Amino acid sequence: MPNSVSIHPAIDSGIKPAAPNFSGGTLLCACTNKPVKVAIKGQVEHNHACGCTKCWKPQGAAFSVVAVVPHDNVTVIENGDKLAVVDPDALIQRHACKECGVHMYGPVEREHAFQGLDFIHPERFQESGWAPPGFAAFVSSVIESGVDPSRMDGIRARLRELGLEPYDCLSPPLMDFVATWVAKRSGALAA
Ligand SMILES: [Zn+2]
Ligand SMILES: [Zn+2]
Repeated sequence: MPNSVSIHPAIDSGIKPAAPNFSGGTLLCACTNKPVKVAIKGQVEHNHACGCTKCWKPQGAAFSVVAVVPHDNVTVIENGDKLAVVDPDALIQRHACKECGVHMYGPVEREHAFQGLDFIHPERFQESGWAPPGFAAFVSSVIESGVDPSRMDGIRARLRELGLEPYDCLSPPLMDFVATWVAKRSGALAA
């Protein structure tokens, strides 16, 4: 029986592979009038489905699709005056369109393992060929957005069916990366 749980409109019908020649493109917000345009240089990295309550999700989606790019590869090219930071206290400074609410880019400026990276939503690319999500993060957190806990088995099964291993934090390689950064900073590991 096919699993009909909806994860996100960009991946519900299957994961599209990356185009080997994808060299970046333009992210667009959802405004029909004067959309915010953000140019991204190069391919995205660490793309994943995210169940946290802070990432921007399209209407009705249980998960976001979110990836990172180096901050230097991000340029606001049109209507940047419509952008505002959602939560100035958050690690990720999510810049959202004040009219349509779409998060356009989120730099990490604070001293952190992810410093220098911007979080973006590749589904907002006008172009196809961006690297698809490779895992699902913060899966249990969808409950905090109102998903009934009884649905979690079905959601995790659907994520696995899509090839997105479900984790309740980040993936093990990323958690190890963050912990290594912390250990080198404290001196527990040699820098
Ligand atoms: Zn907008
Ligand atoms: Zn998230």
